[in-house]
Amino acid sequence: MAADPYVLSHTTWKTVRGTDYQVAVLPWGATEAHNFHLPYGTDNYESEHVASESARKAWEAGARVVVLPPIPFGANTGQLDIKLCINMNPSTQATVLGDVARSLEGQGIPKLVILNSHGGNDFRQMIRELQPTCGVFICTVNWWNCVDPKPFFDEPGDHAGDLETSLMMHLAPELVLPLDEAGDGKAKKFKVAGLREGWAWAPREWTKVTADTGVGNPVAATAEKGKKFFEAVTDRISGFLVDLASADLGKMYE
Ligand SMILES: [Zn+2]
Repeated sequence: MAADPYVLSHTTWKTVRGTDYQVAVLPWGATEAHNFHLPYGTDNYESEHVASESARKAWEAGARVVVLPPIPFGANTGQLDIKLCINMNPSTQATVLGDVARSLEGQGIPKLVILNSHGGNDFRQMIRELQPTCGVFICTVNWWNCVDPKPFFDEPGDHAGDLETSLMMHLAPELVLPLDEAGDGKAKKFKVAGLREGWAWAPREWTKVTADTGVGNPVAATAEKGKKFFEAVTDRISGFLVDLASADLGKMYE
């Protein structure tokens, strides 16, 4: 058996045909600027690492989980004026999601978890539309808000701030530039009170909000904080995967 049968890209048909997979995990990221110090693939690194480590822990607890190759493009309509930010519209994402889910449906994989890594992605409405005509149970998890970040970071930040920078310093330190090369991630707020307070919502025009593409100051980031948060997040998600793997889809309510 392959060393990590829970990562499909590393796994052969020899393993796959003999394994009764219960849950597929689809990491979904984005390709976008992350201040001056983090790479464009940050969200993809995060979703892939969180997915594979959570799946490893779940597999060791007996759940048959498999991580699919990540989708690298997010909804980035607010960043189209930033060079090489690549947008995938929500309607395109819905089509991609439907194709993946229907592939699994035909093969008898009963459950699909989207592991989302990008704040501009929102799969809930897509699932609402897809679920009635698809036999696979579909759910979505944003890895950054399944554990309260406050005990780990004084100011987690929204985008390329302390949380994300610390995580990348743990996961891929060779891709993180020295923090004295980063901008301060200072972001302008909406003038209209309801939008500023967050109970009214509109997407932000990124280049009008931040000069360095970051939202949140990365200056206090460390790999050690990133490791602690990563362990807490993957513990939480692996527990969820174990629960979901054994859940009876006909009896989902108390
Ligand atoms: Zn990000």
